[in-house]
Amino acid sequence: MNSQVFRSINWRNFIFFGATFAVAIIGVPIYIYARGVSASEIALFTFWTLATGISITVGYHRLFAHRTFKTNPIIVFLSLFFGAAAFEESVFQWASQHRDHHKYVDTERDPYNIKQGFFYAHIGWILFRNHTIDFSNVKDLQRNKLIMHQHRHYVLWALTAGVLLPAVMGLATGHLLGALLLSVVGRITFVHHSTFFINSVCHYFGRPTYDIHVSAKDHWLVAILTNGEGYHSFHHRFPSDYRNGYKWYHWDPSKWLIAFLARIGWAEDLKRVSKFHILAARLVAEKEAVEYHLSKELHPIRNAALETLKGRYEQLKHALQTWETHVKEYALLCNQLSNKSDAILKSAFERVQNARQQFLEIRNQWSRSIQQYLPSFSLSVSS
Ligand SMILES: [Zn+2]
Ligand SMILES: [Zn+2]
Repeated sequence: MNSQVFRSINWRNFIFFGATFAVAIIGVPIYIYARGVSASEIALFTFWTLATGISITVGYHRLFAHRTFKTNPIIVFLSLFFGAAAFEESVFQWASQHRDHHKYVDTERDPYNIKQGFFYAHIGWILFRNHTIDFSNVKDLQRNKLIMHQHRHYVLWALTAGVLLPAVMGLATGHLLGALLLSVVGRITFVHHSTFFINSVCHYFGRPTYDIHVSAKDHWLVAILTNGEGYHSFHHRFPSDYRNGYKWYHWDPSKWLIAFLARIGWAEDLKRVSKFHILAARLVAEKEAVEYHLSKELHPIRNAALETLKGRYEQLKHALQTWETHVKEYALLCNQLSNKSDAILKSAFERVQNARQQFLEIRNQWSRSIQQYLPSFSLSVSS
């Protein structure tokens, strides 16, 4: 290790992350092998993993960093409490760095810039952190007294929520050592690296479904590990949306929890991007990916292919706009007309169905064309 690298080590983080990781991969298996693991230890580990993981995704990320919904003081407190227990710094610092990540993604001002390598984006930026944090982008959070209390007394919050409380719960269930190893150290390490996978894996592997110009990608495995944060291409393209997996079947428990909170009146003003905007972004990404791949080589039918593609894209864009227009027209009529069986309403609904059908047919032709030029259906432009 040269002296410059040695000097840039953040020793506090280096020792903390090194020690927790070592205990998690060595101490926890030895403990389980020697003592076995009880149902209460598994239950506590599951509770703490979910509570702290969800507080990072729903609280730190979607509530505080992106303001994708509004909620009540109870959820704010729980997010700050269990978020502190994840040992990922105060939300004031976390959100500031995360907003910079979105604003300056893939540049030197991106705190976890993937262009500096997979390891750097994963954890190197924490172990060798030497940049100063500019809090000017979190002035909205500064107005919240509880957020600032968590920031100023972060160690107290983190130790109380992340170590003391699980230890007391372990003591109460007769497994203090098991709680310290599993629900504290093992859980902290698991949640750390799951979160860090978003910065590393989701900027390296997967599919840039909605924007081929930034490194953010959708990755299903990270979505499973992080309660839905793996749809990272979508998230970078639409960061103000409270969902990361926007389709109902996308694995995004954080989105389901926010929707549930809204249902019981504990959350409101959930921000959603319209499906037409999402589809339009996806079509642009697909078109640009094909153009990029065709332009890379002297494809024998390149010019003809580009012309066909351009024509299909214009058709598709037009069909999407027509569908959207009919949906808006139908919604307007629904608001205006009280009698829902009205013939006007029926014919407007038929126009929506027809426009949708037409879009889907052209979309199928489009997908076949794309597969022809991108056999692996890869949108990546980095290879
Ligand atoms: Zn990102
Ligand atoms: Zn984000």
